Amino acid sequence: MVKIAGSAAPSPRPSSTDEVAPSSPAPAAPERGTPSVVNAGAAPEPTRVEPNPEAGRAARVAHSAQSAQLAQQLHAGHTHAGPTAHAHAEGFAPAGQSVGGPGPARPAASTFATREAGVAALDRDFGVRVRDGNPAFSPEELSRVHESYSRMSSPDREALRGLDLRREHTASAAIQQEAGGHGTLAGLYSPNADARPGTGERVQPASITLYDSAFPSGPQGRQSSIHTITHEAGHAVEGRRRDDATAALNGTIERRNAAVPVLNDANDANNAAVGTFNRAAREAGRNPGTTAAERSQSRQVASTQNAVNRANEAVGTARTPEALAAARTRQDTAVAARDAALGRMSATHPGRAATEEMVRASDNWGSAARARGEANVPLTQLSAEQSAARANVGRFENSAHVSNELSDFQRSTRTARGHEQPISDYGATGPAEDYAESYALYRRDPAFMQEHYPRTFQWFQRQHP
Ligand SMILES: [Zn+2]
Repeated sequence: MVKIAGSAAPSPRPSSTDEVAPSSPAPAAPERGTPSVVNAGAAPEPTRVEPNPEAGRAARVAHSAQSAQLAQQLHAGHTHAGPTAHAHAEGFAPAGQSVGGPGPARPAASTFATREAGVAALDRDFGVRVRDGNPAFSPEELSRVHESYSRMSSPDREALRGLDLRREHTASAAIQQEAGGHGTLAGLYSPNADARPGTGERVQPASITLYDSAFPSGPQGRQSSIHTITHEAGHAVEGRRRDDATAALNGTIERRNAAVPVLNDANDANNAAVGTFNRAAREAGRNPGTTAAERSQSRQVASTQNAVNRANEAVGTARTPEALAAARTRQDTAVAARDAALGRMSATHPGRAATEEMVRASDNWGSAARARGEANVPLTQLSAEQSAARANVGRFENSAHVSNELSDFQRSTRTARGHEQPISDYGATGPAEDYAESYALYRRDPAFMQEHYPRTFQWFQRQHP
């Protein structure tokens, strides 16, 4: 609950014969996010509310670091030093081994006469949306993508659903550099977890971009493409759920940050209204009347006004719609009782004008308190949503922002007793590339993997049957 700074709720300063205003909780530091309501006797010291924009900033920084880390890990920087048709095989095949060969004939379902047919099939079968780029995908390229995704299990294909599939000649220099200079980029998985300020809407879905070198020609060309395409899909299998959860978290951060200044503005207006009220209440307290009847009338107004004060505070600091509605009902009731007491005040009471001024200031404060309450309720809800979204991200990753999927892969196949080496030089550049390379081989040539990397094969068979 709210702790009120000072010793009493705002009230007319009691004269020596007046009732003392109800006591309040012991002085305490104002809770963050709540106003400091000044008691009638003290100088007004409105405190600006600071509803913790720091929380959002910290999360964004963490997120940026996380994004950079992901982006660096998730680039398939396949080196094509020699003829592109062979470069890939050199990348993952143990010396003296020929992996895959030309492969089986392409499945009929993955054969397209037109680009449009391929676009429609990828959308229909995998929920993948092909985006035009420079160049556009050819029917042959879409066929290679479709065959690659067809080799994935049903649960794994969920990681593809909603992805944008992009095609460009080459990656930008900035992306090349971010990938660490491992040669010409063939593909790129982008988590795209950023959200728009204000609405919190995700800026764009996660995407996979395929470059020219993902589509070599020659007898090994199709197998090379399938490896690259499945490698990028492997990044989605490894991180997509975490990336989506992160995007949702960023959305809650942006929406909460948009609500913070609204509350701060309402709080400033509320505190200014409290200050005006306190000054008017002190003025009214200086004219309690001279006759017993007049002093009794002043006491009744002061007493009912104190109830209005408490209701205003409850309205301004409500945290739920239900609490706000209840406080507003209480506010209406208290104002009616106070107005009735004011109506019983004699027209010739020497403090009448000052009391009416105090009542006007109280009503202004009441309106400002309502505005503050209406800004406070959504912020409270957004803070709760943000906490839940953060907890949801935590279901998919560890404290170092490594996905549970990846850390289990490493623990089970790379650091345990009987561990195995990455299947390719590119896989040796980092754990996420190791995972993606392994996933690609697992889907493209499981028999080869079972023979040469039995532990890694068994892990994938267990986790991704
Ligand atoms: Zn990669």
